[in-house]
Amino acid sequence: MTENQYDLMIAGTGPAGLTAAIYGQRLGMKVVVFGDTPGGNLYMIETLMNYPGFIGGIAGTQFGVATFRQAQEEGAEFPMTLLEKLSHTNNRFAGIDGNTSEFSAPVAIVASGRKPKILEVPNADKPGMHFCSICDGPLFRNKNATLAVVGGDNMAGQHALTLARIADRVILIHAGDRLKMEAVLHKKIETKENIDILLNTEVVGFTGPDHINGIIVSTKQEEKQEIPIDGAFTAFGWRPNIDMLKIPVETTSEGYIKTDEKLMTSFPGLFAAGDVRDTDMWQVITACADGARAAKYASEFLEAF
Ligand SMILES: Cc1cc2nc3c(=O)[nH]c(=O)nc-3n(C[C@H](O)[C@H](O)[C@H](O)COP(=O)(O)OP(=O)(O)OC[C@H]3O[C@@H](n4cnc5c(N)ncnc54)[C@H](O)[C@@H]3O)c2cc1C
Repeated sequence: MTENQYDLMIAGTGPAGLTAAIYGQRLGMKVVVFGDTPGGNLYMIETLMNYPGFIGGIAGTQFGVATFRQAQEEGAEFPMTLLEKLSHTNNRFAGIDGNTSEFSAPVAIVASGRKPKILEVPNADKPGMHFCSICDGPLFRNKNATLAVVGGDNMAGQHALTLARIADRVILIHAGDRLKMEAVLHKKIETKENIDILLNTEVVGFTGPDHINGIIVSTKQEEKQEIPIDGAFTAFGWRPNIDMLKIPVETTSEGYIKTDEKLMTSFPGLFAAGDVRDTDMWQVITACADGARAAKYASEFLEAF
């Protein structure tokens, strides 16, 4: 094998990609993993509270760096750049990284995660802005918190219900004139006493010196008004990171990569794992499980190659 030829190429150094690297190496493959952060989105998790084995939780960065080191110990190689382009030529996957070096492998796993769509209003980038209610909601437990949820679809509805179990008050703010969520969810929300719904209401900014403590909203009828809050959750949706993928694969309308039960995409030899995949749970534990399974099935594909 020449210098840049590998058995398995992985895009993404989050929990899915790193677990795939650990399993891939242990299954006897020579693995290269692209990504620029050891741990992917784990660096955004202040304390990972819901991963079994860590009573009291573990800092996301600590978990990410340890998993990264474990993959290195197993022998996986990390150029520490993003994969700029992943294509398929001469029966192999061809990758070009940020240094324009070329890599190739007969099997590949896309584990590049997803990123939240951010509200483009003043102070939306301050601490106190959250994207995951299952993950960050418990930070507000027993704090008599008032939380804003921005959005009007199913995701916003789920956030509002999750947070209503934790916070004193949840304000669901939607720019449209009606909520666009499943009827059952809509009904549950309407019957929750601690959820207030503000329709036809635009979020125009957030306030707070270091941490968000107010949301500024505007309606057609009223002047802008500021509502005091302890935190905000946006539910504008997420965008899977698939721009580098120059191979035709089936995706959902939102761009999540569809896979079969062995995590193979519609393109033979190309697998997908973690948050980038068309899944129903976007969590560290499910990303790790995906990574392990994708590596196993990638290795089986390689054997038959
Ligand atoms: C604020 C926040 C809090 C969260 N809290 C929790 C929690 O408490 N518990 C929990 O279980 N889950 C939590 N999550 C969800 C969890 O972070 C994700 O489910 C998990 O990280 C998904 O792992 P992944 O490996 O699929 O993707 P990611 O962790 O997103 O990793 C993918 C990596 O691939 C990189 N990448 C993108 N494009 C390319 C490319 N072209 N080439 C190479 N790499 C690329 C991305 O930059 C990223 O670093 C939280 C998420 C957020 C945003």
